[in-house]
Amino acid sequence: MRDVVKAEEGETFDIELEANLLKANEQLAERNKKLLSRNGVVAVDVMGSIGAGKTSLIEQLVKRLKERHHIAVLNGDLTTTIDADILGQHGIPVVQINTGKECHLDANLVEKALKKLELEKLNLIFIENVGNLICPAEFPLGSEKRIVVISLTEGPYIVVKHPYSFLHADAVVINKVDLADAMGLDIEKLKEDIRRLNPKVKLVETNCRTGDGVAKVADALGL
Ligand code: MG
Ligand code: ZN
Repeated sequence: MRDVVKAEEGETFDIELEANLLKANEQLAERNKKLLSRNGVVAVDVMGSIGAGKTSLIEQLVKRLKERHHIAVLNGDLTTTIDADILGQHGIPVVQINTGKECHLDANLVEKALKKLELEKLNLIFIENVGNLICPAEFPLGSEKRIVVISLTEGPYIVVKHPYSFLHADAVVINKVDLADAMGLDIEKLKEDIRRLNPKVKLVETNCRTGDGVAKVADALGL
């Protein structure tokens, strides 16, 4: 039997501060949600670890959907504009959000970024969260839908080790499925893990490098 030290409720140093902060974030998220819906915009929060394929997925979705939707993208990252530069090549409005040291987007930053867009001219916004599967789950942004992207290179325990991220996802994209043999991974087992947490979630296998499966992601979100 292994010794495990567990943080009890109220024991971590910043717990009260954190509760206030989360509540303030939720109120701002509600405000974003109203702003978006007043403008007829559907926002999709895209979460996943660094390297899972969030930017590639958004890029493939933008390519497929930009003829029938008016799309913009918000990209969250600590300090770089790499993702915004990639997505900006597709002729759509892109706003980079640099969080500095923060490992997640919050509703306040998203509100600031939305002010840079002409919302009345848009109907779809993808919000690429900071590459991290832990705390973004605690910070709603005001988006209507959420996609979680995982990739086979993250190993067999990516779902069971990050349960909260999957609870409120509308769709989970399992990316890099072409590497299943190389990784020796059982995709069905990953799907079982996800369904156990979120029985209603839509699961889509993709290879975002080639675009395989991406049309099904758009279908799963009703886009
Ligand atoms: Mg990215
Ligand atoms: Zn964080």
